[in-house]
Amino acid sequence: MNDTKALTIAFHLTDRCNLRCRGCHWFSSPVREVEEVEGEHYIRWVEKNRRRIGAIKLSGGEPTLYKDFLTLVNHLPKDLPLIINTNGTRAQTLRNIDRRDNMILKVSVNRPVSEFFEKDIEALGYPCSFHSFNGVARRPNLTNELEFGWESDLIGRNGRCLPKFIRFGADGWAYNCEKGLREKDETLRCGFSLWGGDMNLRGKTCRITQACLSNFCNENDMLSSASARIKWRVRNVLGRFLAAARLVL
Ligand code: SF4
Ligand code: SF4
Repeated sequence: MNDTKALTIAFHLTDRCNLRCRGCHWFSSPVREVEEVEGEHYIRWVEKNRRRIGAIKLSGGEPTLYKDFLTLVNHLPKDLPLIINTNGTRAQTLRNIDRRDNMILKVSVNRPVSEFFEKDIEALGYPCSFHSFNGVARRPNLTNELEFGWESDLIGRNGRCLPKFIRFGADGWAYNCEKGLREKDETLRCGFSLWGGDMNLRGKTCRITQACLSNFCNENDMLSSASARIKWRVRNVLGRFLAAARLVL
């Protein structure tokens, strides 16, 4: 990898959330909650790696629940684009953010919200956009990622997940995939943390389990395009047909 390339860095600050939205990819399989890292560790890491960072994304769970949320946000360099994935319910905390520029709130709408919800968020005065975070928002042919995984017989096959950006779990370690982030699985770490190691985005090939299916289509190179998904389906239908034919013969 080109060592000078600026990367997007995601900090999954907390495993906790005050909601349980329909289709939430985070809580679709078990999350191992850990003690959250102190804000000063993130701040120091960003200072040290400033040259490699193109943008910072804060996520979770609900990042405003993170114990040092405001300290962290207010100390991150203001010239670095900042994206905050939030459910927008903790308006008082969001209101206390001490920056208006170079920041966007990406607000989840995977749940019934009041008719005033979007207007109330916009009234905070930050650039904002509204999204579904259930992993299928950008894939109109796909209504449920977990169902797709089941139907396609993905479980037990080999998957190759390619993270699109560097992601740190709430424990300060970077992980290859969302399953790793949720479970804090040591075998799914990238090999570096807030305290050391070299940044890389190698990805990982391993056996697909049910817990992999959430957000899987966003990460797995076999399924990253519509044509790949169609080929995958055709292969599965053909495989089933041949298996059935063998039984009959
Ligand atoms: S989609 Fe976001 S706000 Fe909703 S339960 Fe999941 S983490 Fe919480
Ligand atoms: S196949 Fe599953 S465990 Fe392996 S990298 Fe992808 S999501 Fe993670």
